[in-house]
Order: sequence, then C-alpha cells, then structure tokens
Amino acid sequence: MPPRTVAVIGGGLSGLTAAYRLAKSGARVTLLESAPRLGGWAQTQSYPLSFERNGQTHTGSVSLEFGPRSIRPRGGPGAPAMLQLIQDLGLCDRIVPIPNDHPAAKNRYLFDPDSGKLSAVQASPLAVLNPRTAPAIRQLLLAFAMEPFRRSRPPDGDESVAAFFERRFGKRVARTASAFVHGIYAADPAALSLRSAFGMLHAAEKRGGSVVMGMLRSPKNEAEEAAWAKIGELGKEREGWNMYALRGGMCQLITALEKNARDAGVEIKRSRVLRINPDTRVNVETSYGPLRVDHVVAALPPRRLDRILSASLPHLLANSSTTVGVVNVVLPLPPKEVHPDGFGYLIPRGGCNPEGALGVVFDSTALPGTDDGGLEGQVTKLTVMLGGPHWSSYGGVREPAHEDELIPLALSHLRRAFPHLKAEPLLTVPHLNRECIPTYAPGHGARLRDIHEAIESGPWKNRLSVVGAGYGGVSVNDCVLGAEIVASGLASGTVTGLERWADWE
Ligand SMILES: Cc1cc2nc3c(=O)[nH]c(=O)nc-3n(C[C@H](O)[C@H](O)[C@H](O)COP(=O)(O)OP(=O)(O)OC[C@H]3O[C@@H](n4cnc5c(N)ncnc54)[C@H](O)[C@@H]3O)c2cc1C
Repeated sequence: MPPRTVAVIGGGLSGLTAAYRLAKSGARVTLLESAPRLGGWAQTQSYPLSFERNGQTHTGSVSLEFGPRSIRPRGGPGAPAMLQLIQDLGLCDRIVPIPNDHPAAKNRYLFDPDSGKLSAVQASPLAVLNPRTAPAIRQLLLAFAMEPFRRSRPPDGDESVAAFFERRFGKRVARTASAFVHGIYAADPAALSLRSAFGMLHAAEKRGGSVVMGMLRSPKNEAEEAAWAKIGELGKEREGWNMYALRGGMCQLITALEKNARDAGVEIKRSRVLRINPDTRVNVETSYGPLRVDHVVAALPPRRLDRILSASLPHLLANSSTTVGVVNVVLPLPPKEVHPDGFGYLIPRGGCNPEGALGVVFDSTALPGTDDGGLEGQVTKLTVMLGGPHWSSYGGVREPAHEDELIPLALSHLRRAFPHLKAEPLLTVPHLNRECIPTYAPGHGARLRDIHEAIESGPWKNRLSVVGAGYGGVSVNDCVLGAEIVASGLASGTVTGLERWADWE
C-alpha cells in the first residue's frame, strides 16, 4: 500500500524533487531541511557592481553560481527526467540552450601544468595530422585509434578509473584523463569506481571487446527514447543542444521546486533530523520536536544518514566525499581580453600546480545569456575549482583552514594561466565546499545492492527509501532521476530507491 504520510529529509535538489512529486501523487509530505536555505549545493547569488573603464561607468549586477550550473541534455535516463521536471515546473522559457556548434560546446581546453599552456581538446581523429595539435591531445587521439588492438581483459569485479585507463590506453593517457575526472568528480581516478562513475565505458568494452568498438555498436535505448518522446517538441529540440542552463541560474529551479511543492501541500520545516526509528510507523526526532510518518525518504548524504539511523544499514560510510574550493572571480574586462572563447579548461594530475587547481570555467562564454544583470560582455566571470585530491591523496598541497585563503591561490593560478592579466578583480567570492561530491570507491554497485537487500529484509522494510548524489550518480540529472523513481514507486507501493542495483553482479 502506498504510504500516506512521508517525511523527506534534506532539501537539496533530490529532496525537493521527491517532495514535490510525492505531494503531486497524493501523499502528505513534510520536508525537513537543517540549513537556513533550501537547495543544498545548488546556490546562485546576485551582486550589484559599478565600475569605470576608459572613462565610462558600467552599472548592473552579476549572478554567480557556487555549485552546479550546466545541465546535459543526453547521456542517460536522468536527462529526460530533468527536462520533464523543468517543463512541469513551467521553466521552459528560462532554458538557455548551448547548441552543438557553439564555441562553448566545441572549445574545451586542457591546461598543461608544466608549460602553463592551454591546448584545445580535439574530437576529430584527423587532428592527429594537424601539426598545431598539442602533443598531449595527439597522444590521446592516437591511443584511441590503437585501443581496439590492445589486449587486456577486464577484471571480474569492478576496477578503478585509473586502472581502466592504464589498461586500455596506457599510462600517459591515464594521466591526461585524470583532468576529466577532476572536472566531474574532483577525485583521484585511482579511488573512483569505473562501473559507477563511467559505466558507459565499462559497458562499451564488455559489448565490443574494446571501448572504441563497443561505442560504435551502441544499442538504441528504447526506454530513454520513449521518455524523450513524452516531452514532445522540447525532447526533439534538445538533440541540437550540447548542454543547457537556466536564465537567472540554478536557483530558478530550486525556487520553482519550493513554490510548486508548497502549492501541492508540502510542509517545509527548517529543522535538523536527529534520529529516525522504525516502529509500526517511523518516529522522526527533529530539532523542533517529534514527527510520526508512514515512510521516510532520506535525501541527505549517506554518511549523514548513518548518524541518524537507530537501526544501522551496511556500507553507508564506505565512500569518502571530496572537498572542493570554489572561487568566483569577476574581472572588469570583456571576456575576449582575458581568455579564448569556450567552456573552460581542466588540469591533469602532476606537474607544477602549487595551488592544487582542478580547472577553470569561463562562465561568461560557457553559458552566455544566463545572467540578466546587464553586464554581459562588459565583465569576465570565471570560476576556479581547487583542491579535491590535491588536498587528500595526491599530497603536497595543504587544504586551507579558512575559505579566504582560497582567493590568493585562485588568483595566483589565474596569473600563471593568463600572464597578460594585470587587472584587479572587481569581486572574488570563495567557498570551501566540504565533502561536497561523493567518491564512489570500486565495488560501489555491489554495496548498493547490499543496502537494498538490508532495507528489504530488516526493520526498514516499507519504511525507508534513499535518494541523492551519494547513490546513483552525482549530476543534477541523476539526482532528479533518483527522486522521480522513488516518488513514482511510492505512489503504487514501497521502494528502497536502489532497485536498479538489485541484480548487480
Ligand atoms: C561545486 C559543484 C559544482 C557542481 N556542478 C555541477 C554541474 O555543473 N552539473 C551537474 O549536473 N552537477 C554538478 N554538481 C553536482 C550536483 O550539484 C550535486 O550532486 C547535487 O546538487 C546534490 O544534490 P542532493 O540533493 O542529492 O544533495 P545535497 O545538495 O547535498 O542536499 C542534501 C541536503 O540535506 C540537508 N541535510 C543534511 N543533513 C540533514 C539532517 N540531519 N536533517 C535535515 N537536513 C539535512 C543538507 O543541508 C542539504 O541541503 C556540482 C556539485 C558541486 C559541489
């Protein structure tokens, strides 16, 4: 029987989506969030600015993203789930698509920490023949061309992303590939599960005997195509997009979710959940008092969940989470005077990187049209990402004790990347995001299966579902998909949220 009363713990993107969808399907929902603000890691902030350049005064505002900013319109079932949510929330007119032929889609760079130079990542194999192609990119393209001829069997179980790249492409490419891992997971590739972080690479090798051959034989995903078809015209349009964002920033999604959730009857309480206890119903102890509900949807990180469970579940402490320094920098110059047109650059492991920088997003040219503060083209917005494995497993760079220490690190890195840059920034906003992205350690899928079985067979049966970045993917699409699956499952019965891993081998 579907639960009639549900407590959703955590008001990030996952919890808000679950609460909104559950209330729409008729449940009485209480959302409990410990922070003063909803949205979790999704946070946009606007700042007024006024400055003079060449005798002219420029006045307006800039909106800065401290967390997620770009959304992928493909690459798994989370993509249609997110676009469907945006449509249902009435946010379609806020979508800013970045077409496949846009410079932000085509121009992505790698920063070589030794030479301090940027090189464009080339998708076409013909770039090997171009003498201007950087050596690291040429190596990457050649390694892909040779990969089908490499003999190496995958291990029986899971393996790390680093082990996989070394096995299939060689050590040097594995080092270059670390840049892409830094860009998505801010993690050490040696600590990250291939199957859980880059499942499509594992599947391609399994299908084709080699990653390249497997990708060429990519089967049609009928369920996903049906989900796109359900979205209608927008589902077709997105085929021409490389990525998209929202005008006004990610906070638009959070604000619309909050409003629509409240309109659907969700009661939102700013209180910390201290303990949950399964009985005939679930007793939820919170900082404002007790609550009794039929079911709990836990939308908080697994490590936090572990602290509040009165009856424990396995593996919730198995993964660590990475800490990332995010510094938003605004310069009083048009973007073309600062950096090449494009999305930004990533930095591989090793070399001279005393600041422990992971990459830089060129916000002004990566997602043009998202900031309606009237200063587009007049200022350059950059986001410098620092830390992650540099502060943990790589060693050699100390994690700052306070976020203000991030600013000189970010500016020192930018001066090395763009030596011509002399202008003082108009604004620098640092955030030390502690434990913000989970690192799925090898074996993550099998552990999710165990958690699913433990919920099914113990006191949490029919009492608890789990959603969020700690389980089935860290992207905003994955978070929305997990929440949608739980909400639709609970509308007709009960689910753990981990059914997708029930048959994991
Ligand atoms: C810097 C950064 C950049 C990113 N960029 C992108 C991007 O461009 N594109 C993309 O797809 N993804 C991106 N991501 C990933 C994505 O933003 C996150 O994975 C996603 O927002 C996580 O949402 P969540 O709701 O699962 O978790 P969270 O956002 O962590 O929300 C959990 C909530 O639970 C609350 N909570 C915790 N304990 C309790 C308690 N005891 N009681 C009550 N409440 C509690 C917390 O306060 C929090 O609000 C980025 C992440 C970061 C950190």
